[in-house]
Amino acid sequence: MNVLLIEDTMTSATVVAHQLSKLGLETQHARDGEAGLALFKKLRPDLVLLDIIMPGLDGFEVARRIRQLEKDGEWTPIIFLTARTSDEDLEHGIEVGGDDYLIKPVSEVVLAAKVRAMQRLAQMRYSLVVLTRRLDEANRELTRLTSVDGLTGIANRRCFDETIAREGQRARRNRLPLSVLMVDVDYFKQYNDSYGHQGGDDCLRQVAASLQSLLKRPGDLVARFGGEEFVVVLPETNAVGARRVAEEMRGAVEALGLPHAASPGGKGVTVSVGVATAYPSPDDDAGGVEQLLAGADRALYSAKNAGRNRVMAAETLARASAL
Ligand code: GH3
Ligand code: MG
Ligand code: MG
Ligand code: MG
Repeated sequence: MNVLLIEDTMTSATVVAHQLSKLGLETQHARDGEAGLALFKKLRPDLVLLDIIMPGLDGFEVARRIRQLEKDGEWTPIIFLTARTSDEDLEHGIEVGGDDYLIKPVSEVVLAAKVRAMQRLAQMRYSLVVLTRRLDEANRELTRLTSVDGLTGIANRRCFDETIAREGQRARRNRLPLSVLMVDVDYFKQYNDSYGHQGGDDCLRQVAASLQSLLKRPGDLVARFGGEEFVVVLPETNAVGARRVAEEMRGAVEALGLPHAASPGGKGVTVSVGVATAYPSPDDDAGGVEQLLAGADRALYSAKNAGRNRVMAAETLARASAL
């Protein structure tokens, strides 16, 4: 523990420093308020012993400035050294940021007891800081977990719901296009039947990672919609751009080359993708998001019907719905 002693009277300072050294504490001494503040900035001591009556800045002012120097969450115990014992002085001392006081001449026993009490407080405070930090970390992790899918590690349905609501609003407000892709693994029931549920889970993890790796813009999102279905949100992306991303994703999954012996399609693991794009305006209501998803779903359905392992856009079925 490092102690800063700010005291203009040399005899008093010498006695206190000697007493502190007997307690095993190292003391730095400043002879007035200005020098004390400078030393405080330099040393960041663990305890300040502060005389009240000094030439220049008095102890009250020094305490006030020390409290201003401390950043959020920092706290250095301050004990006033005073020859005065008026109640008003003590009250004022605590008011400006002091924690305790010692009456001069300082009793060795009382000094030791108060230093120990401050050490204990500082220790408790430190534990609290550590605990708060751990709590913050735990909270951050909790927030992360509520938006991550446990199986695949990509965003979950909840995260998708939040994202699509937010992006829908933004798209309406700023008249920006918004695209959604529905991605569904082909013949996945047969995959599970031949490779087991564990094998199916591994497959979903690889497909998810592959889709995720193709995202380029920070605003894009791939989420697990449920089961073997994924959904992609592409803000500020028109029908042409969305179709391109969809085709890339389809191709990437095919290129993984995951074997699927029982697939009626005769290929490895593949996906079908439904694309829908909206060009909303501020007059549209929030219900447009459901229409957009329904459009992507219908497009997916027609991709399945057309033979799977392909991309279909809602636009080619019907003109894009207003969001
Ligand atoms: P389609 O080509 O028409 O999409 O056929 P499909 O077999 O993929 O579709 P269907 O909806 O009939 O079957 C989906 C299967 O996905 C059924 C279910 O057992 C499986 N499934 C859903 N969620 C999971 C999961 O978390 N893990 C595993 N291993 N399988 C899952
Ligand atoms: Mg003095
Ligand atoms: Mg499927
Ligand atoms: Mg499905």
